Amino acid sequence: MKARMLIGGLMVIFLVFFAGNVSAEWPKVCEGQPPHYLRGFTQTNDQIDAFKQMQLNFAASRSDSSLLRARWASNIGESATFIFYGHTVSIYFPMYQRLGNVVYYYTAAGATPLTVEEFECVKEDFGQWIQQAIDANYDDHRRITDLAVESFAAGNNMTPDAVRKLIARPIPEYGTNYGDVLKIPLLEPADFIKGVKHIYFTSMSSCNAWVYLQTIVAFSPCTRRWDYIMGYPTVAKHELIHANAKLQGFPIGWYSNMELFAALLPFLEQPTDLETFFYHGYLSKPWEALEVFGSFDVAKIRKEFFRYDVWGGGSAMNREVIAEYLSEINKAAEWLRESGLKVLAKFYTDPHFWVAVNDMSHDDDMAYMVIMAGLYEPTALGGHDNTVRFILKHSDQSKSIADGAWSRVGKSRSLMFDERRQKALEELVRFADALGISKEELIRKGRAYGFRSEHLENMDLDLAREILRSFLSGDGVFGKPIGSKLLQEKEVRLP
Ligand SMILES: [Zn+2]
Repeated sequence: MKARMLIGGLMVIFLVFFAGNVSAEWPKVCEGQPPHYLRGFTQTNDQIDAFKQMQLNFAASRSDSSLLRARWASNIGESATFIFYGHTVSIYFPMYQRLGNVVYYYTAAGATPLTVEEFECVKEDFGQWIQQAIDANYDDHRRITDLAVESFAAGNNMTPDAVRKLIARPIPEYGTNYGDVLKIPLLEPADFIKGVKHIYFTSMSSCNAWVYLQTIVAFSPCTRRWDYIMGYPTVAKHELIHANAKLQGFPIGWYSNMELFAALLPFLEQPTDLETFFYHGYLSKPWEALEVFGSFDVAKIRKEFFRYDVWGGGSAMNREVIAEYLSEINKAAEWLRESGLKVLAKFYTDPHFWVAVNDMSHDDDMAYMVIMAGLYEPTALGGHDNTVRFILKHSDQSKSIADGAWSRVGKSRSLMFDERRQKALEELVRFADALGISKEELIRKGRAYGFRSEHLENMDLDLAREILRSFLSGDGVFGKPIGSKLLQEKEVRLP
């Protein structure tokens, strides 16, 4: 029993799992039909057909998402409560409203009447989708943990078993454990959901999904259709990786490209999702890596996808050309995913080291590129030999470029001009604001990000407020010098 839904009686969802491509299994209440907003789309292994459906899906999202931003309260309408691995999550469906025996689905196209059973099917399918994403993420990341543990063990003259024991070992005087300090993620499936309190299924201006402080997650109908067409939960997996504090918690998450890390595995499943592989910006570094290490030019193939534009009516797809490239594309995507797994394993062996590499080089993608360069040889210029010959021949220029780059290395970045830290600060400001603490108070105190947000997320709001207040005012335990037994004090018991 993996998920239990507490609406309309206790209902148990059993999940059927398939390796790789998942064929559609609808919850019982759906009576063999997909939920209403998936109709007209099919799950398919035909990649060109999937690519075509993805375009139609984006077009369809205009009707449920054409508003710049929804003007409604996101928690109006219907809701449901789900339990995933013992963790309760409220799911809100603001686009749906039950009136008597009819449930209306509101979009920019108007109100569509549904039966109560049709809406039950929507809820159950949604819960099943989230469950599938949790399990698939766990499956992927279990391998990363294994590899990271092995590599840490090899580097420290330990056995993998001893490393696992070390990670789980508590440090009572700090109310934490070694895993939390070393940041090697020893994962359980629940880690992909246990920080999440609310999930919204709502109109989001485009084909969007979103995570806030690893606590609130939202998906638009378009993203559910996306995962349905492809047959694997790409978008749901991506968002739940963001929601996993062991993988993307602060401060590690602030110093590396977490979009890339949440895309490397979910965006590169087989058969390749052509839309995502060729057009999703989160893969821009992997595109570069493909060119440098695999002589595979994504931009060149992308140019050949369409022949000409019909004015205002879209472009003419070059089906034959795409078909010709398919096997090479799938090979490239498979290679990227495999390399992504190795990169993540290496990164999570010593995240502190790699975020320092990013920070010093003023580039959140540096860890990815350095690890890739350590794993593969460059082949961009007609094979490895030619490429190395070129590099050696132009070693003087390479050296002066490298010197220029290194001259900036190690210099600290100004907070005011650092977009990433600004963003982190903004998030904290919004969180503090929700707790009734002004931005001025927060800024006055400055280096507020010594605090880890995953501590706050799982905490009772009153306790969080109390801690944030004492932190800002320098009262209580926060007034003491660093190194005091901060978290063991009675006033601040972290869960
Ligand atoms: Zn993301």
